[in-house]
Amino acid sequence: MSNKPIAIAIDGPSGAGKSTIARILAGELGCMYVDTGALYRTVGYAALGRGIEATDLAAVEAMLSEIRVELTHENGVQQVWLNGENLGDRIRTPEVSMAASAFSALPVVRQYLLDLQQDTARKQSVIMDGRDIGTVVLPFADVKIFLTASAEARAERRFLELQEKGVETTFDEVLRDMKERDYNDSHRATAPLKAADDAILVDTSECTLEESVALLKNTVLKALKG
Ligand code: C5P
Repeated sequence: MSNKPIAIAIDGPSGAGKSTIARILAGELGCMYVDTGALYRTVGYAALGRGIEATDLAAVEAMLSEIRVELTHENGVQQVWLNGENLGDRIRTPEVSMAASAFSALPVVRQYLLDLQQDTARKQSVIMDGRDIGTVVLPFADVKIFLTASAEARAERRFLELQEKGVETTFDEVLRDMKERDYNDSHRATAPLKAADDAILVDTSECTLEESVALLKNTVLKALKG
């Protein structure tokens, strides 16, 4: 790789496998994996802890002026910090997922997290995943991927993941939450989830994890060679 940092943007709905695939690919390509959903989750977590509703804009603005969200990487693994505290898996609960989706619709929240994401990509080669990376955060990314899969395939994967973590839930609940988040994410006025015009569409509905990684790696390498 040349000295200029490379930016690979991966957008798509939740559960499409973005984070798992991007993390493996980042290791193989020598890039840093940046999970931007974790940043929105951190804001959602902070709001839940303070009992703040997404409809109370004044309270949200006051909260944003008080909190400090930071991103670090330890041995290639991303950590997010809220006011100096590493939140770990506390941002991975279904409640925090819904809060992240609600608060991420607010322009003040998106603006608040924009610099952090762009700064991270300026410093090193990244594979960054989210909803608006190719359209808003890194519009000049070297490769843009829109990774998707059917809602059922995505809910199935997320359900198994939550079960492994011991989170009590049902498949129907996960599917319902996922469809609600899909709707929120794609219909919000600011930075809605949508493929950039120059994004490559990759559908992993029928793929195993190994097949998805291979498919994405081939797609990215081919696009980088231009
Ligand atoms: O990717 P993940 O499911 O962890 O993201 C949690 C929520 O954060 C999403 O449902 C979405 O509402 C929001 N998000 C966003 N923009 C991003 C990343 C995540 O709006 N770039």
